[in-house]
Amino acid sequence: MRCQVAIIGGGPSGLLLSQLLHRAGIDTVVLERQSRDYVLSRIRAGVLEWGSVEMLREAGVGARMDAEGYPHDGVYLACRNEGFRIDFKDLVGKQVMVYGQTEVTRDLYEARDRMDGKVIHNVEGVQIHGADSDAPYVTYTRDGTEHRLDCDWVAGCDGFHGVSRQTIPASVLKEFERVYPFGWLGILSETPPVDDELIYAQHERGFALCSMRNARLSRYYVQVAQDDKVENWSDDAFWDELRRRIPEDAAERLVTGPSIEKSIAPLRSYVAEPMRWGRLFLVGDAAHIVPPTGAKGLNLAVSDVHYLYHALVQAYEGDEHGVAHYSEQALARVWKSERFSWSMTGLLHRFPDRGAFEARMQEAELDYLQHSRAAQTSLAENYVGLPY
Ligand SMILES: Cc1cc2nc3c(=O)[nH]c(=O)nc-3n(C[C@H](O)[C@H](O)[C@H](O)COP(=O)(O)OP(=O)(O)OC[C@H]3O[C@@H](n4cnc5c(N)ncnc54)[C@H](O)[C@@H]3O)c2cc1C
Repeated sequence: MRCQVAIIGGGPSGLLLSQLLHRAGIDTVVLERQSRDYVLSRIRAGVLEWGSVEMLREAGVGARMDAEGYPHDGVYLACRNEGFRIDFKDLVGKQVMVYGQTEVTRDLYEARDRMDGKVIHNVEGVQIHGADSDAPYVTYTRDGTEHRLDCDWVAGCDGFHGVSRQTIPASVLKEFERVYPFGWLGILSETPPVDDELIYAQHERGFALCSMRNARLSRYYVQVAQDDKVENWSDDAFWDELRRRIPEDAAERLVTGPSIEKSIAPLRSYVAEPMRWGRLFLVGDAAHIVPPTGAKGLNLAVSDVHYLYHALVQAYEGDEHGVAHYSEQALARVWKSERFSWSMTGLLHRFPDRGAFEARMQEAELDYLQHSRAAQTSLAENYVGLPY
């Protein structure tokens, strides 16, 4: 088999890149390790920056998002059970869109089907060959049969545990990492959200987040110890803990119900450099991870796709400047989102290795944010997404 761009990974970044390239007349094959049902059952991100919203529209997959998504003009921050609002619309004239990653992925799969896009599921043993040559190719096994896919370029969209990043020699790859000493216990419940906007709460017992997917589906999180287990948390214990950490008026309004999903996610900051090696590009979680506090993971995957899509279109028009500079262009934005996610994490969580002084610093910073329009503008500018 031959295609112009071989895409490893059928998550949001691989599917979006494939969809955009196909519309530009560039032929792709997506190789995905899991089944489609498995990919669509993953509960992950829920907040889209406006740049991501516009990219999805540009890819022709914005209709359901525009009909069913929830534009948000702001968020609430809370400290010691009292909240205040950051008004994005007023501060920077922009919004974000609440629309789940599962729905984005579903829309992309349906669009790929309509265009007869080639997405091959249940592939095993993917290997990338000759990425530093002019003739790269990918091998994989499916149903016990070995296959070879020749291509011009390889896009590594295969997430943090994928094979693409591992293909780059250790002598070339630089890794930067911070693992946080806690995780997020999250539940999904078929209950109305406690508020019409997100609430990020800092509390001496630990961080909490009230988020949502739609008017009948809520997503809530509480900070837990790094080694905590889901089995330690009954639904009642979760709701009790959430109530303790959020503003009192929100705790009184909170509607509880059985969880339909419950999981613990570790928190990590990670960046791999460079994001291009020869004819192989890293995209999304394959190159970087952010703690979810700034709602940046999926949005960074979309901005990488933006840069790579334009670079590849340019390359097929005879100008390889974009592909030559893809890594530095993508990384400049990645590091700023890493900084924002890291600083939001530091501001809002309880760190077991920090003492009373740092706790007061967090409170002072939140107090400053509450009363300074300049500080709020900076937070709003980053939260809605820096320009591409
Ligand atoms: C539990 C969890 C919760 C999250 N919550 C949030 C959140 O609240 N907010 C937020 O902004 N972000 C969140 N994120 C991050 C966000 O989901 C990711 O940034 C986003 O999914 C990145 O998209 P991607 O396509 O780059 O990678 P992925 O979504 O990881 O997709 C990679 C795909 O590649 C496939 N793959 C892997 N290895 C191979 C291989 N060898 N061969 C073929 N295919 C392969 C995988 O099966 C997968 O489908 C969360 C992530 C996780 C894991």
